[in-house]
Amino acid sequence: MSSSSFVERHPDFVLKLKITAADGQTEIRRIRLPRIVDGEGKVSYEELVGLIVAFSVPEVRSPKSSRYKVSLTYSDVDGDSVTIASSEELLDACEQYADQKLLRITTNFKKPNTTVAPATAAVRASCKRTMFVETPRTGTNIASQASQKADKRIRMSSKKPQLPLYRLETQGKDHLAVIVGGRKGCTYCKYKRALAKLNDKGTLPSVSKIGRKCLACGDHLCKSHFDVFHKAE
Ligand SMILES: [Zn+2]
Ligand SMILES: [Zn+2]
Repeated sequence: MSSSSFVERHPDFVLKLKITAADGQTEIRRIRLPRIVDGEGKVSYEELVGLIVAFSVPEVRSPKSSRYKVSLTYSDVDGDSVTIASSEELLDACEQYADQKLLRITTNFKKPNTTVAPATAAVRASCKRTMFVETPRTGTNIASQASQKADKRIRMSSKKPQLPLYRLETQGKDHLAVIVGGRKGCTYCKYKRALAKLNDKGTLPSVSKIGRKCLACGDHLCKSHFDVFHKAE
């Protein structure tokens, strides 16, 4: 039984992902199987991991942040918790639940300190593809701009929180809010939180996760922070 035929026979098969990100936030996402096939039409573990990383890690497009480790588990027909770590195991899991057309997968995120996950290159590659999938209206533009910005974008420093300078530049692109598929943390929320942390404020402001970003900057920004983000301090 080849994996391509499984997707062909079950195009409506859904993966229900319970994603627990590194910051402890939990999110449920539904992915239809045809969304994670590789170039040969086969169910791909790397594609799935790439999608999960794109869903969960706000700064995934910066080169330094591709060191995320994802562990996938599901409950098999005997009720045992089984790890999925390859396309073969993913397909095997799907086949067990072919009748239900639904496989529940629990996803846990780890950010290793030193080791780089072996799937890094594949994850990064599939993340780029995900950007195209998730932004059908202006896909190519956003994706190419996002990858341009990826070099400039830095993690919010905890010692010296700063907003990126490109937010004040025009570069011929309008700073326009666009809706995208993947939800990520608002850059300005992260900035405010980092500042509060630095000043030892008791309760830290939360970071909104939104599917809304600036077309020119590539930063995700919540509604109330879009204008203030683009103003010089
Ligand atoms: Zn915000
Ligand atoms: Zn902008």
